Amino acid sequence: MTAFVDVAIVGAGPCGLAAAIAAIRGGLSVSVFDRGCLVNGIAGYPTYMTFFSTAERIAIGGVPFLVATEKPTRRDALAYYRGVASLYDVPVRQYETVESMRPVRYDPSAAGVTSARSARWLLRSITRGGAVHETAAHAVIIATGYFGRPNLLQVPGETLPHVRHGYVEGHTAWRAPVVIVGGGNSAVDAALDMYRAGAYVTMVHVGASLDNGVKPWVRPEIEARIHDGSIQAHYESRVVDITPEDVVVQGPSGEVRVPATQVYTMTGYLPETGLLEAVGVPIDPLSGIPSHNPLTMATPVPGVYLAGVIASGLSANRIFIENGRDHGDAIVRHLLS
Ligand SMILES: Cc1cc2nc3c(=O)[nH]c(=O)nc-3n(C[C@H](O)[C@H](O)[C@H](O)COP(=O)(O)OP(=O)(O)OC[C@H]3O[C@@H](n4cnc5c(N)ncnc54)[C@H](O)[C@@H]3O)c2cc1C
Repeated sequence: MTAFVDVAIVGAGPCGLAAAIAAIRGGLSVSVFDRGCLVNGIAGYPTYMTFFSTAERIAIGGVPFLVATEKPTRRDALAYYRGVASLYDVPVRQYETVESMRPVRYDPSAAGVTSARSARWLLRSITRGGAVHETAAHAVIIATGYFGRPNLLQVPGETLPHVRHGYVEGHTAWRAPVVIVGGGNSAVDAALDMYRAGAYVTMVHVGASLDNGVKPWVRPEIEARIHDGSIQAHYESRVVDITPEDVVVQGPSGEVRVPATQVYTMTGYLPETGLLEAVGVPIDPLSGIPSHNPLTMATPVPGVYLAGVIASGLSANRIFIENGRDHGDAIVRHLLS
């Protein structure tokens, strides 16, 4: 049986959730789909991570986010977003992936549904257990983020089981030789955490130094550890091969083999634009930005909108929770106008 809603939202990250709340506050019926749990990306952050944003800057739905410390932790944020979703009773269909969507013309009142507007899109979703559902919606907000599409190194050995794109916590690397690929915040946090847990850490980075965006309160410590040799760093270097016991690094002084029984590729993510491309939203080949009006977040395809980091293309640092949380308000203003 087909369900009818005014707005279907693909992705229950913080920006998708904020968009759902904006729609609910605007009197619209919504359904939010996530292939994982609520705020799945944050659930996958390193376990003991602290946000760089203060709590009020990642609050949504007008609900105050208070913490007793300077910055919220991953755990604080998970509890907060659960609370906000419960407060607004947001209908989140967790572990249900939207596989495809196609244009339709449905009048919900013909099916006895008087609460929804005419439907323009039919979404096909599939649960973890394999059940297939159809949902008809007047508008679709794509808030699929980027955590599901890691920026791969494209080198041999990258799919070996000791290679991970993402980092959980240092304990599992005690006394292990570890290679971390990257020089941004995620790489630096992982390097320090694993070093403190007793791992033998080597960083490999294509840049001539750590990235400029490394958090200023973290930079002194990582630079001191690299300077005193407790963390090794290969700059202007690339991983060219990963074997079960080492990593082959090509750098200024030629090729070196660095022992590693754990490899973490902290090389960022690419936006998940599959659904947008399938319905004909043009993606700029250079920036990776899906075509949209930044004032309304509407794409050129009628009834299809963007919310969150998906709108920032290949440069994922342009939009984050702080400035993606307002996209839903712009969309709902446009929908109701
Ligand atoms: C370690 C770390 C620390 C960070 N710290 C901060 C910070 O301090 N401040 C800040 O503002 N930002 C921070 N960020 C960035 C922030 O996490 C992202 O900008 C934010 O999660 C983007 O939210 P979103 O809702 O756009 O997308 P996401 O959070 O990526 O959510 C997208 C959701 O869509 C779901 N999805 C994708 N495809 C489908 C599909 N086909 N069907 C169903 N569901 C689907 C995914 O499962 C996911 O839950 C940090 C990121 C990391 C990695």
